[in-house]
Amino acid sequence: MPAIRLLDAAVISRIAAGEVIERPASVVKELVENALDAGARRVDIELVGGGRELVLVSDDGCGIAVEDLPLAVARHATSKLENDDLARITTLGFRGEALAAIAAVARLRITSRPHDADTAYTLFAEGERIEGPRPAAGPFGTRVEAAELFRKVPARLKFLRSERAELQSAREVVERLALARPTVGFRLMADGRVLLDCPAETAGARGILARALSILGAELESDLVSVDVERDGIRVFGLIGLPTAARSDARAQHLVVNGRAVQDRLLKSALRAGYGDLLARERHPVAALFVELPPERVDVNVHPNKAEVRFAEPHTVRGLIVAAVRAALAEHGSRTARMLSRQVETAFRVPQSVAYAPSGGVPAGLAESATPFQPALTSLPPAPPPSESAESEPQAAESFPLGFARAQLFNAYVLAENALGLVIVDQHAAHERIVFEQLKQALRSGGVARQTLLLPEVVALPAGEREALLARASDVARLGLVVEAFGPEAVVVREVPALLGDTPVAPIVRALAAELFTLDSALALEAALGRLAATIACHSSVRAGRRLSLAEMNALLRAIERTPNSGQCNHGRPTWIQLDRTAIERLFGRR
Ligand code: ADP
Ligand code: MG
Repeated sequence: MPAIRLLDAAVISRIAAGEVIERPASVVKELVENALDAGARRVDIELVGGGRELVLVSDDGCGIAVEDLPLAVARHATSKLENDDLARITTLGFRGEALAAIAAVARLRITSRPHDADTAYTLFAEGERIEGPRPAAGPFGTRVEAAELFRKVPARLKFLRSERAELQSAREVVERLALARPTVGFRLMADGRVLLDCPAETAGARGILARALSILGAELESDLVSVDVERDGIRVFGLIGLPTAARSDARAQHLVVNGRAVQDRLLKSALRAGYGDLLARERHPVAALFVELPPERVDVNVHPNKAEVRFAEPHTVRGLIVAAVRAALAEHGSRTARMLSRQVETAFRVPQSVAYAPSGGVPAGLAESATPFQPALTSLPPAPPPSESAESEPQAAESFPLGFARAQLFNAYVLAENALGLVIVDQHAAHERIVFEQLKQALRSGGVARQTLLLPEVVALPAGEREALLARASDVARLGLVVEAFGPEAVVVREVPALLGDTPVAPIVRALAAELFTLDSALALEAALGRLAATIACHSSVRAGRRLSLAEMNALLRAIERTPNSGQCNHGRPTWIQLDRTAIERLFGRR
């Protein structure tokens, strides 16, 4: 074996650096922590090339005096460890290693201007080489750039993952730090793109909530429960997610001890224990949980990355967290995550044929080409006998894309089962579309079949509307509605569209008259008829609130299937939606 020799200083510091700086994300963490220790209200982070080419962190903190700049990059030099007291650490840093470590493995430039200084100074350090400090331009605060990370440490460079993966790690670091410090504004940019922009929040519960939502996603708002307990000088507070909002990994779990984001095992297991059997084993609760206690009762100097801490009274801390979580969940026990219903919402598909136009749109003109059309149901067939179900269902599954009715909900929605899963039909919207398409088809082929009323119906109308209706009586007749003047204040209806069945006629006449009164008289006949047909359809259709038999529901499904454009109603809303069986199974955690 060769003789023992002392390593050269550059090698020593590179070895030491390896403990602190593993990847771009570690540079980000150290620099942002320094900014927070400096009392910054705002921290800006910029990355180029996933942080490998450049990590830049600027803050509006206290700054570094020019005479301290060379010390800042020296190993074991810190301004933070008052009285060398490792037992009472109140800052994130205290080892005086980070800047030296970064300078050992990258090109480091610090530009800083304390609040009482006339100018900024800049210092450059790479390995053993230091340049400056020199006067420079710069705002109050500190800006640190770490460029070309690991250029001189190829062994490390080899272990870096893709730019995207490194960027993702760096982003997670910033998110964790940002969540731990709601009152500080954070912005993260990568290659000129803003990845994260969190304004400074107010101190207290509201700020925590606002910050948590901007990091975890605003959709979590209704799924978070607040926690706040204190015992023996230890306070546990913040937010935890409802059990149903839990995730398959722990990334949305934020634990903060005295302002330090940690990944502490004791805390994680305590949090988990608080959920007890409300959570499947492989699920991870969402949390932004803060623990505050006197600094001498927690040791942060037990882990190179300070990710783990050691509590002087671990059992007390654990017990407090378990109890706090349990109590908070018990209070909200009947709430299941709204997230779930949102997931259901996103799991539903609007069928592809539907161009989802905003409501209020004018129905398409009558001239539009229609796909082959067979006359559809006029009024729905009468209620069938109770034993009518399912005779020919299996073989029909393919030919009936909307499947078969299973139930009706709120007297307004038909629930059907088809080959893909569950179909929900808005009965009013669907029937309205069907009638509309029938009217259009009838108009195209020469006029709507009419039916004479045994008892002509007199409908009173406001003067203007009565005039408007009578002025276009011949157009209205093409739609199957024959009206004549009746005295000075009314009209009499003699014939109605046959497809209306026994739909009450007065509301239709009133709606048509109102429509014609406001209709632009210059509107082309075809477009006008389209509008009127839509009005008739709307008033003649199976209104929501009507109870349907299974046979009626199935008739409706069949009519939708053979009616062109039936995926949306005349207002552009979908008439039916599909929830696939796989989505249903996913919602229940079976996939
Ligand atoms: P530590 O944070 O453990 O003290 P560092 O190497 O990270 O060690 O930083 C060394 C010193 O440089 C700090 O103690 C602090 O005085 C100074 N410093 C570093 N970054 C900043 C900053 N952004 N603002 C003000 N001072 C800073
Ligand atoms: Mg530091």
